[in-house]
Parts: sequence; C-alpha cells; structure tokens
Amino acid sequence: MTIDEVMKCIKDEGISQVDLKTTDIWGRWRHVTLASTYFSEKTFTEGVGFDASNLGYGNVVQSDLLMIPDPSTAFIEEREGQRLISMICDVYSVDNGKPSPLDPRGILRKAVSSISDVAENVMLAPEYEFHVFNSVAFNLAPNEVFYGVDGEEGFWNEGVTGEYIIGKKGGYHQVTPFDTLATLRGAIVERLMSLGVPVKYHHHEVGTCQVEIELDFCDALKAADYTMLIKYVARNVAKRMGYVVSFMPKPLYDEAGNGMHVHQYLVKNSVNIFSGQELFGLSSTALSYIAGVLTHGKSLMAFTNPTTNSYRRLTPGFEAPTTAVFGLGNRTAAVRIPAYVKDPSKVRIEFRTIDATTNPYLGFAAMVLAGVDGIRRGLDPVSLGYGPVEDSAEGRGEQLATSLSEACDALLKDNGYLSGVFPEALIERWTQKKLQEEREVNRVPNALEFKLYFDV
Ligand code: GLN
Ligand code: MG
Ligand code: MG
Ligand code: MG
Repeated sequence: MTIDEVMKCIKDEGISQVDLKTTDIWGRWRHVTLASTYFSEKTFTEGVGFDASNLGYGNVVQSDLLMIPDPSTAFIEEREGQRLISMICDVYSVDNGKPSPLDPRGILRKAVSSISDVAENVMLAPEYEFHVFNSVAFNLAPNEVFYGVDGEEGFWNEGVTGEYIIGKKGGYHQVTPFDTLATLRGAIVERLMSLGVPVKYHHHEVGTCQVEIELDFCDALKAADYTMLIKYVARNVAKRMGYVVSFMPKPLYDEAGNGMHVHQYLVKNSVNIFSGQELFGLSSTALSYIAGVLTHGKSLMAFTNPTTNSYRRLTPGFEAPTTAVFGLGNRTAAVRIPAYVKDPSKVRIEFRTIDATTNPYLGFAAMVLAGVDGIRRGLDPVSLGYGPVEDSAEGRGEQLATSLSEACDALLKDNGYLSGVFPEALIERWTQKKLQEEREVNRVPNALEFKLYFDV
C-alpha cells in the first residue's frame, strides 16, 4: 500500500488500531499498537519513539530511537474481532532523521545498493523447516532433565509424538493420515497466500513432527520481510489450532534439524547472471560467488547461524552441511547446485548452512556480500579446493565453524567483506552478546552429561 492507501484503509475498513512491528537486532519481531486516532500521515515521517536498549540497538543511556512504518509492508490482521493494520518499521535515529546505522533493514538495503557494480538485484528463495509440538515444557532444573536411554524420548519429546507414528527419518513427503500436520500447514499457507506471500509448496519433512514451507524467488528485502512474517503467521496459526511451532535448528536429539536453505541468483540488466556455460550450467560469476560464500563461510556463520543450537544441527548424518564445499545435487554440501533446474532464467545456487535463527536482514546481507566479494576478487572455487564434491561432503574439505564462538572469532578476524555496510559497532555488539550466550549455555549441565557421568 501507499501512505494514502493505508490512511484510506483505516477509514474505510473501520480499523481501530495500527500495529507497528520492528525487528530487534537479534531477529525477533517486537510490536507496539497505536490507537488509530493517534496515528496519522505524520507518523510516516515523525515515527514513534521507543526504548532501543530493549531491542539491542542502544544502551540505556542512549536509548531513544524512532520506528518509522514502511507502508509497502502493510497488511490487515484480525485479533478476536479487532481489526488492525500492521506495518514493518525501519529504525531511525532521533537526532538527524536518518536511518540508524544498526537498523537491520537499512543494512540489507545498503548491502544491495553497495553491489550495484556487480548486480542490480539479488533474488532469494528461502525454505523454512520447523518442528510442530503439542506442547513444550521448559524446565532447566538439572535434576529434572531426563533423557531416555535410546535418546528417543526426553523432556523435549514430551507431548510431541502423541498419535504421531512416522518412524525416525521416515517423514519426508509422507501422505495423510500419517502426515497429521497437512491441515496445519495448509492453514498457514492459505493465510500467507492471502497476504501475497509467494509460497511454492509445503510438505512433511524427514524428521518426527518436522515440516517445511518453501517460497518462490523474491528480492532480498522482501525475502527477509517474508521470513519475519512466515515465522509469525506459522506461530499464530499453530497456536489457534492447539500447537506450538519452533524453528530452532536442533530441537530434538538425534533427529533431523531445521535448516533455512536459501536459493539465490543475481540479476543484471534484468538477466540472471548465474546462468552460463561453465560447470553445471553456471557462469564464472556464479562460481566466484560460491567461492566467496565458502571462503568467508566461518565468519558469515556468526550471522547466518547465530545460536549455540545452530551448531548442534551442523553434524553428520542429517543432510546438513559440515564442510565448506559445493556439489551438484549434493545435500551434504554447504552449497548445492540443484540438478533439476534447466531453465537458464532459474539457474541458482542453494546455500544450505543458514538456519532460521538468523536475523534474516543481517544474515542475507552478510551472505550476499561474501558472495559478491568472491566475484570482485574473481575467485575460482575449483582451484581453491572447494569441490565439486560428488559423494558425501562429510569430512571433505575445510570444516565449517563447529561452535558459535568459533564463528564469532572468525567474524572478528575476517570482516573486510562487510565493511561500509556493517558498522564495526554492530560486529562488536553482536560478537560480545553471542560469546556471552555460549558461555551461559556452557554453564548449564545438560541431559547427556547425566547419562555419561552421573554414576562416575
Ligand atoms: N533438514 C535438513 C537441514 O537441516 C535438510 C533436509 C532436506 O531439506 N531434505 O538442512
Ligand atoms: Mg526444500
Ligand atoms: Mg527441507
Ligand atoms: Mg533445500
């Protein structure tokens, strides 16, 4: 919508509240709801002040920032009969009326405009894997954590399986009645379609109570906005239907984890410049992009895989990558070239390392800047030893980061490819917080330690 359309919609459709959604630095949506009588055209320039320290953007003594709604993201929401209009916001600084340098949407926009020498647009098609639970009980009291001997039941599994009887690793594309989550996915997808989200398809995934929704290509900013929206819609529809969903990369021990693979290509003069006559129908530009993503792989992961749980997913045996290699149709590689794509306008590469705990604005920006750095330096992934790998990539090539601290250390050493787009203050804030998270997680006795050491 335009500003005029938003204002007209509020008037014509009897909308009483305006919901402003802002992404915090760590990748969660936060919202504040304005009475529509308090909202006016001016809000689009003057914004609404908020305490940025709670969203990770500032400290408590310099905590005032503005959120300014982007009318092009407007959509209508209903909450038990109340009608609201929702918009995604950009974060502005109070003193100069300019976007805050830490604003994730601003950073992604800047990343895209900074690569104009190479491409005018980045097209992304993410895939969202997530788990569906009947209920989830959080209980960190160590003496109450229990894991079954065979690792199949534990407190995470409580209330999960219920009547669900798909065997381990047997879920991929299962049909009803075994696919008990088809109706839930259908409801999520119908809602997304009504909001104009370009859904491709949905299906049951490999793991127990694991599902997936895939999007068609859209530009990077839309793909990031949709990522926020999809997680929100999935959670809210699931809640209404009596479920809880989680995009956590590895919620269940010894089960498939949740990735958020991103298919991608660059566009110049309206042409897909990843299509060409080199290896696997790719252009040398695409090959250099792959090399860039893999060279900066470890550093990039501080943004694309930013939780301690991310690294529990990146282990062998579950179609998640562990090494920095590429391959045709190879689901163990960090970068896969889909073997089924024949149309030159659809040629793409798939980055499989990333997961949905990423702040999508920062994760996509870092990923694209890494790839474009490879193009600018004319890197060749074959002579650099990144592949192509035909059989299992596990144990082949350079190891990806195996922990959040390893990724953060890599980011602190290798961040030149982000310069001019990611402020140093952001990298500093990010790594400090993430390293602290890992230290905190390491302080908690975990379930397996009880099994291994209780009786020593
Ligand atoms: N779940 C796998 C991952 O963690 C992907 C499996 C698949 O898409 N077939 O990346
Ligand atoms: Mg998929
Ligand atoms: Mg999948
Ligand atoms: Mg995939």
